[in-house]
Formats: sequence, C-alpha cells, structure tokens
Amino acid sequence: MKIKELALENRVTFIYEDTESASKKPISSNFEDDSFSSRKGLNELIFDAKLGKFDTLFVYSHDRLTRNVHESLLLKYLFKKLNIDVVYCRPGEDLNTQNQKINEFFDHLLNNIAQLEANLIGARVKLGNEYKIKNNLWAGGPPPYGYKLNKGPKGRTTLKVSAIEAAIVKEIFNLYLSGCSPKIIAELIREKYPENNDRKWTVNSIKSIISNESYLGYIVWNKKGGARNPVKHTNPIKSSKITENEIISNEIWEEVKKIKSLIRNNPKFLSTPFLLKDFLVCGDCGKKLKCKNNGKGKKRVYYCDNDKGKWDFCIDAKEIEEKIISKINERITDLLSDEKHYDEFYNAYVKKHEEKIGLLKKQREELYEEYKSVIAELENCEKEIFELTQTKHDVDMEKDKTQYVLLDSLKEFKSFLCINKEIIEKKLERNAEKQREPLISKEKFKEKINKDTKLLDSISKKLDSNIYKRYIRILLLNTIEKIIITHDKNVEIISLYFS
Ligand SMILES: [Zn+2]
Repeated sequence: MKIKELALENRVTFIYEDTESASKKPISSNFEDDSFSSRKGLNELIFDAKLGKFDTLFVYSHDRLTRNVHESLLLKYLFKKLNIDVVYCRPGEDLNTQNQKINEFFDHLLNNIAQLEANLIGARVKLGNEYKIKNNLWAGGPPPYGYKLNKGPKGRTTLKVSAIEAAIVKEIFNLYLSGCSPKIIAELIREKYPENNDRKWTVNSIKSIISNESYLGYIVWNKKGGARNPVKHTNPIKSSKITENEIISNEIWEEVKKIKSLIRNNPKFLSTPFLLKDFLVCGDCGKKLKCKNNGKGKKRVYYCDNDKGKWDFCIDAKEIEEKIISKINERITDLLSDEKHYDEFYNAYVKKHEEKIGLLKKQREELYEEYKSVIAELENCEKEIFELTQTKHDVDMEKDKTQYVLLDSLKEFKSFLCINKEIIEKKLERNAEKQREPLISKEKFKEKINKDTKLLDSISKKLDSNIYKRYIRILLLNTIEKIIITHDKNVEIISLYFS
C-alpha cells in the first residue's frame, strides 16, 4: 500500500511514504493561501495522485484538506476516479462529518461517472444522430416493430405507424398488464398470428417491446451501445413526442413499468401459488403471514411466525383464497352495477392522481436545488480554468507540471459537471412531462373499468388457471392494500376502492 499522510494533528506537512523503501520524506509544507491555483501544496497533492504515488491518503480532518467547498468537490471526484481512499484521523471525524447536504448532492453526481466514460466514447457518432432525432427524423437502421419507414427528400426519413403491427403491440402490452409473462405472451402471439411468424417471437423480443419508449410516440436512439459497446445507455436520445406515432398511452406505459419493477424486486410475485401472499396480515401482531407448501396431496397453509408459538395460527390456503377472492369479485360486480359506487371509485382515483402530482412537484423542487448547485459548481470550475489559462503567459507551463495536471483535472471535472447538468435537465423535462399527464375524465374512466372487467372475463374463460392466477395477483395489486385476518378468522379487506 502506498500511503500519503496529510496534515496530521497540527502539522501542515504532508508526508509521502513509500513502503518499499520504508522511508518517510516530506514533500511540501505550505498551506498558507486559500486560493486554489496558488495553493502549491494542493496542486502537488493532485499531481502525486494522478501519478499514482499513493492509494490511501491520511488526513487529520476535512478542513485541513481544504476549507473550500469547490476544492473539496474536485478532490472527491478525483479520488473517486483514481480509486484513492481518504482516511480522516481526528477522533470522530469521518466522511459524514462534512456538510451532509454537500455529501448527498455529490453522491448523486458520482453515480454518473460511468456514464461520463460512455459519453466521451460515443460523443462523435452521437452528435450527428442527435441532430436527426431532435428534428424527429429516424437516425437509420430498421424501424422498431410497429412502424415503417417513410422516406422523404434528402434522406429525411421519418417513422409511420403500421396499423397491423401496432395492433399486435397493443395486444402485447395488454396481455402483460393482465399478468401474462413474456414467455406466455410469445406463445399466444405465435399461435394467434401464424402469418406473422417471420418475427420469431421470443421472450426477449416481447421484453424489448414492453420496454421500448418508441411506442409512446418518441424516436429513441442509443438504447443499446451496439455490438461494440453492449452496455445499455441509461439516457438515450429522444425526440419530442410525435402524437400521431403514439401506439401506447402514458397510462398503460406507467402501469407496465410498475409491474416490471415489482417483478424485478420480487421475481415470484406473479407466479407464486399463494394468491394472497404479501397481502395477508396477522390481526393480532400486524406481521405479514408466511406461506408453506406441505408437499403433494397435503394442504398449503398461511401462518403467522411470530414468537408466540410458530404454528399457533395456521390457515388453510385454498379455503381462505376462495373466500376472499369471491368477496372481492362480489364487491367489484357491485361497484360496476351502481352509479354511486362508480363515483367512489373515481374519487379514489382522483385522490391518487393528486398525490402523484404532489410527489412530482416535490421531486421537481429537489431536482431544481441540485441543478442550481451544479450550475454554481460549473461556474466556479470555469472561473478556475479561465484563471489558470490566463496565467499561461507569465508561467512556463512546461516547467510547472502541477499546474498542467491541475488544469487537466479541472477540465475533466468540468465535463463531468456538464454531463450531470444534462442529466438533471432531462430529469426535469421528464418530470414536467409527467406533471402534464391529464386526469382521465369520468367517462373515459368508466370505459377503462369496463374494458378491464371484460378482459378478466375473457381470460378466466379462455386461458388456463395459471394465467388466471397471475391476473388475480395483478388485480389484488391494483385494488387491495392489505387483508387483515384474526385468529378467529375474522377478515377485513383494506382497499382504496371499497370498504
Ligand atoms: Zn401474529
């Protein structure tokens, strides 16, 4: 390990220790000035860091390293990139002693380091295509499924919806929303549209369809880095929304996204044989009930594993599932049969929508704070660079290598900040877009519920029971918060929509 000690205790010397020669020699001892470019010590520190002279830095305290927030951010960035650990020696001093807000802010930015690399590599190709995309033109290559190319003059190619393919895309999204897995969807589509089998529907092609933002009416490019760079770019280039190219509504897209992230965190959420898993709560202690499959021919059970006695509270799974699902079915039928219930349902939806907008507004404020900080940081960085390049005439840069390295580091830090600025701008844009999503009218809402229940009917009649079970899981997810059950088998269903 190569170690550097900086300003231990009250000494302002920093010591560079080479463990091989086991000798300590001071390299610098000056920390008088507070301005970066004239702070020789700090410049040398950066210089040594870049040369790989040490991989761990021991420093007495944060303010001993630098009292300047901007310098501190630059150093944090460099150390992170160069894989240098910083150890603070003052008792009680650790990473979190520093201004918590600055730490959090910077941690956000650091998440984007990997992206910086990717962006630098792809920057040139990106520019040309970005121009096209921003002008709602297709950048080249085969169109996404659901669209055809529309060749205009001077290579101005646009996308146009292909009606037949668009219908299949819609069906794929709806099947996914009704609980079908990509594998089941691929089978269903292959079977239903044999004339379309040149597409060779697979799990992956279904997955890529339900993840493709093109269907919202955008032209999206750079989703994947191609064969050379298969890493997925988190921020693809996107055109503005082209309304006539919209195949999937925002609302459906958001629902699909919700299910995808649910399955990512809980892969068996839809395929579990326990229909009420995660929803059943013990009425005595409030814990979620556990599930147990006792093997073939034996009963499946839900039980509370609270310390009182593990098998005290044990319920026959099939019995309780039938009871509760028929109860929910009853309530939904009830709901659909009466105008007054509709109103309740709709009001609950309006409330949810308002909550969502409130959350988005809060997120926007936070993003905006972050944005202001990045801008301020960027200005500082530019000022430093400007000052350093101004001194070029007075100082022989060739001689003062540390100045060179500092300038280099500042430039790199600047592009890091620029990319962060861009990312936050895109997030702000997306946030504004989501805030503009309109509240669905009562009429449309009614249509949607009717459509959903029809879907339930067709699925329960036509498809095998596994798909039906998956659908029930989604139905529960959308309607139920929890189901409280007590020892004496009293059941209470907690739902936004019905009591
Ligand atoms: Zn319990």
